Amino acid sequence: MLDRSEIDTQEMKEKDRRYLWHSMSPYSEHDRPMIVASAQGAWITDSEGNRYLDAMSGLWCVNVGYGRQELAEAAYNQLSTLPYYPLTQSHLPAIELAEKLNEWLGDDYVIFFSNSGSEANEVAFKIARQYQQQIGAHSRFKFISRYRAYHGSSLGALSATGQAQRKYKYEPLTSGFLHVSPPDSYRRPEGMSAEAFNRQCADEIERTIVWEGAESVAGVIMEPVITGGGVIVPEPSYLTRVEEICRKHGVLLILDEVICGFGRSGQRFGHHNFGVKPDIVTMAKGLTSGYLPLSATAVRKEIYDAFKDPEQYGHLRHVNTFGGNPAACALALANLAVMEREGLVERSRVLGERLRAEFDELLAHSLVGDIRSFGFLLGVELVADKATKEPASADVVKRIIGACKRAGLIIGKNGDTVAGFNNVLTFSPPLSCTDEDVDFIVRTFKQVMAEVAG
Ligand code: PMP
Repeated sequence: MLDRSEIDTQEMKEKDRRYLWHSMSPYSEHDRPMIVASAQGAWITDSEGNRYLDAMSGLWCVNVGYGRQELAEAAYNQLSTLPYYPLTQSHLPAIELAEKLNEWLGDDYVIFFSNSGSEANEVAFKIARQYQQQIGAHSRFKFISRYRAYHGSSLGALSATGQAQRKYKYEPLTSGFLHVSPPDSYRRPEGMSAEAFNRQCADEIERTIVWEGAESVAGVIMEPVITGGGVIVPEPSYLTRVEEICRKHGVLLILDEVICGFGRSGQRFGHHNFGVKPDIVTMAKGLTSGYLPLSATAVRKEIYDAFKDPEQYGHLRHVNTFGGNPAACALALANLAVMEREGLVERSRVLGERLRAEFDELLAHSLVGDIRSFGFLLGVELVADKATKEPASADVVKRIIGACKRAGLIIGKNGDTVAGFNNVLTFSPPLSCTDEDVDFIVRTFKQVMAEVAG
């Protein structure tokens, strides 16, 4: 193993430049990658020994924090016993994890394992389409999702995504994906209550179903709260109205819990905050806290049962080689055991409330238009003008993120460059943060904002 003190950073940066193609990085930034060498708790250390508090948990996923030996050991032990077998047959870690996920979901679901959030959503689309066929609704193939939402990078999941910036270079995408307005209450029409605006947004889904012809629509997919698209938190009644519309029109409700799941929302799953019962739930990220790739598509038992008809050869025509890898499942079980033992779901709620209370002071800042949060997940919407709500320029956003990094704090930025919204700073720290970690986030961000104000 490479000892950090022995890393020649310049040489590694040269090799990085030469051999590695990074995700989502413009080439100017690509020329200056940070090489992360180790991590512990909420803190990462780069190859030059600089420490940063990772307030984005990597890509919203390291929920239990870095450096958990028991997760590494669970994977090691499983690799030593049975490193691999496909889930065309079965193995113990997958069975145990599927049972544990039912406990976490608090309802009766059957679990299909894959490797990434994108794949979990692809599986959901295929199951939804085939399910509709199995029950005789042969013409239902369309899906409805929201603008600004992110559902993944593969072509189907990207088609469901509502961010032009990620899509327009790769079109034409998969047909049959429609988009409606997100319940972005900050930008609601003047004089309208947030409640009425959310109702209007939910009703847009019903209008779309009716105009398209309900008999052509297979499902609606949404996150409980839009995370990567700018932390857009609906009114509590929004999701129940969406559920009602789906039931009325025979459309499946698919909830993407890839970020909202596993405690991030202050409940075990994001939808537990809203009292709805989704037909399909997709999950990834926090399932293993990012330590190994694993994702899951949880499907209501009644839907699974529709695939049992032997006359129609009704089995699911989907397989993946690595999904439900035994070591990844064993690690996920260890990860959930840590969350339960340390009460991290409850901690997420407590830390989230604290972060929110501290950040609310920033509403007085000239650049801060809105602050939104959901559990231990928070977005700060930056504006150039509070009256017109014109988004802050990319330059201002970049300056704040850069200043935070220089002060030892990694934060995120989300939205949609093409649509002109790329102005929401995001915070999604490990749920295992100490009180001092949260103090550091608050202190550092406030200092940076005070400097940028000038
Ligand atoms: N859904 C949501 C809500 C996500 O945030 C992401 C990833 N950021 C995905 C799906 C796709 O997950 P992955 O990158 O693991 O494919």
